[in-house]
Amino acid sequence: MIKPRLRQQLAELTALPSISCTMAEQDMSNVPVIDTLANWFETAGFACEIMPVAPGKANLIAVRAGTDPQARGGLVLAGHSDTVPFDQNLWHNDPFKMTERDGKLYGLGMADMKGFFALILDAVANYAKTPFRAPLIVIATCDEETSMAGARALMEQSKGQGRFVLIGEPTNLKPARLHKGVMLERVVITGKSGHSSDPELGRNAIDAMHEVVSRLQQFRTSLKKIQQPLFPVPYPTLNLGCIHGGDNPNRICGLCELQFDVRPLPGMDIESIRADIRQLLNGIEQQFGVSMLYEPATAGSGAAETPADSPFVQKIEGLLGETAGAVSFGTEAPYFRAQNMDTVILGPGNIEQAHQPDEYLEIKNISPMLLLLNQLIHYYCVQGHARL
Ligand SMILES: [Zn+2]
Repeated sequence: MIKPRLRQQLAELTALPSISCTMAEQDMSNVPVIDTLANWFETAGFACEIMPVAPGKANLIAVRAGTDPQARGGLVLAGHSDTVPFDQNLWHNDPFKMTERDGKLYGLGMADMKGFFALILDAVANYAKTPFRAPLIVIATCDEETSMAGARALMEQSKGQGRFVLIGEPTNLKPARLHKGVMLERVVITGKSGHSSDPELGRNAIDAMHEVVSRLQQFRTSLKKIQQPLFPVPYPTLNLGCIHGGDNPNRICGLCELQFDVRPLPGMDIESIRADIRQLLNGIEQQFGVSMLYEPATAGSGAAETPADSPFVQKIEGLLGETAGAVSFGTEAPYFRAQNMDTVILGPGNIEQAHQPDEYLEIKNISPMLLLLNQLIHYYCVQGHARL
């Protein structure tokens, strides 16, 4: 059912580890995957640029040009070449050896999402002798699972631009045009420890943090007024994730740290949410005589939305007979949106298997994904509808 070459390339990509991890000892280079893809796309008639992002990390930009000299723009098929780490003892097969069982192809990155690149190669092979009027651009990024450094570098250098972008993240073939952002934040309160028998001897960091928590809870209530009904959870959320402070019941707590996340809706700006929170926490230092640090724990990533009336959204909806919705996970879409590219997220994997032991891709999802890729390449590149 799957062509031997597609199966072989899926297996080869699975066999090349490209784990991204915020812990340096587990972080790996993605260059072997990028080199392999560059090789395959060059053979398929693409001009390939390997763009270094950091030591051992690179993006691939592969372009098959259009014949129309006026044709700028083009269709972009994008994805990330890295995977998350894996739990060795929870996998039932070697995560780097593609294994077929019960109509499923198991392997790390199968669904999320190295497998997507092999499918693109299978689709473009059908157009080997067909000239394109508008370009087809394939982008494979690094570090999507950690810092999004690959997508950020593309945006900063204005590389890999096109008119429309399909991101092959696992959506089980359902089109999505919006997702929330995520911000991971921390508040650290430094008071003064002392003997608990006399509260005046110290400054209690837990007391001050209690005030921080109540104000954040009020903020969370106010966030619920902002609604986007396409999301299963239709409002921006705030979760109090962990709190650490103090060491003994008979000491005044001198240090307390809280971490929380906020998941903004499209249209909400991360920096202005941070400014709101900073404003909200005003006065607590003076009230409790403590010092307070509020800062992002990571840079965070933005929400993204492509309008429902985008011609790209409507084309894909028409081909699939399905309305584009929202996904609950973050992607590189904000970096493409920042360059005014209409972005749809759609891939053959399922997010339920992503970041899990025994990650797999269902074989029955491969043919419909190939059909869609063929239709998009034909319409946008061969017929040239992706021209600017
Ligand atoms: Zn992914």
